[in-house]
Amino acid sequence: MALERWFRRNKPTRKEEDNSPAGLWLKCDGCHAQIYRKDLVANRYVCPECDHHYRMPVDARIDLLADAGTFERWSGHIQAQDPLEFEDTQPYTERIEKAQKKHGRPDAIVTGAAELDGHAVALVVMDFAFLGGSMGSVVGEEIARAAERAAEEGRSLVAVTASGGARMQEGALSLMQMAKTTVALGALAERRLPYVSVLTDPTTGGVTASFATLGDVIFAEPGALISFAGPRVIQQTIRQDLPEGFQRAEFLLQKGMVDDVVKRSALKGRVAQVLKLLTAGLPEPTLEAPRAATV
Ligand SMILES: [Zn+2]
Repeated sequence: MALERWFRRNKPTRKEEDNSPAGLWLKCDGCHAQIYRKDLVANRYVCPECDHHYRMPVDARIDLLADAGTFERWSGHIQAQDPLEFEDTQPYTERIEKAQKKHGRPDAIVTGAAELDGHAVALVVMDFAFLGGSMGSVVGEEIARAAERAAEEGRSLVAVTASGGARMQEGALSLMQMAKTTVALGALAERRLPYVSVLTDPTTGGVTASFATLGDVIFAEPGALISFAGPRVIQQTIRQDLPEGFQRAEFLLQKGMVDDVVKRSALKGRVAQVLKLLTAGLPEPTLEAPRAATV
């Protein structure tokens, strides 16, 4: 009995563990300081003490990048199917319905048109909170449509990725999204429109292996985990210890896989700078359908 109590006392209490978004205070994952949640939100989900970059909700990300009042949503009109009738601990249809209810969107992505520092862009933002940001048919299709529409309208593409990889419940259909998104990006390249990719924590699996790392310029947020297979799988495969900081943004910058690691406070400015350089000399975007000439 006494022994049991000893173990219980050493367990962290519920309050100490409370890092939930609803908690008023939270203990920073980076510096362990107690931070007031409102301060964290006001500071764009970056710890005011140690600069630790938390994952950011989709709406806040759009507010960060789009000029005020310019975002116009494109996504949200297609629904995931369940051709495999997949069931693990629960049927896929139930799992996705719960996520839809909780997050108020049909899948793990939001796309739309916006202005970014005055540049006409298509914004693609992945939602890690929605089934781990996994890329199934809907996520892939929305990205492909956004890229194609951006090309049609003469917009640059800015994608903010956060994903656990392919959506296993959709099997091979998920893997096909890698090819689909990659091909769709070709439409932008044909028109010499820039594609800026922003990798945030975590960007992994099939998303890393497809559109996320195909940007003309690839930025990553500080500390973001960016990988294809996770470190444990690699360690077990090659049977070697992995170097410090393996698969983190800063490590990948040293290895040349990303072009720069950019703090969230500077992100919009850096993306805008790149768009300015890469769109110099391009024709003005055709934001409306061409009208018949009037005499
Ligand atoms: Zn901190």
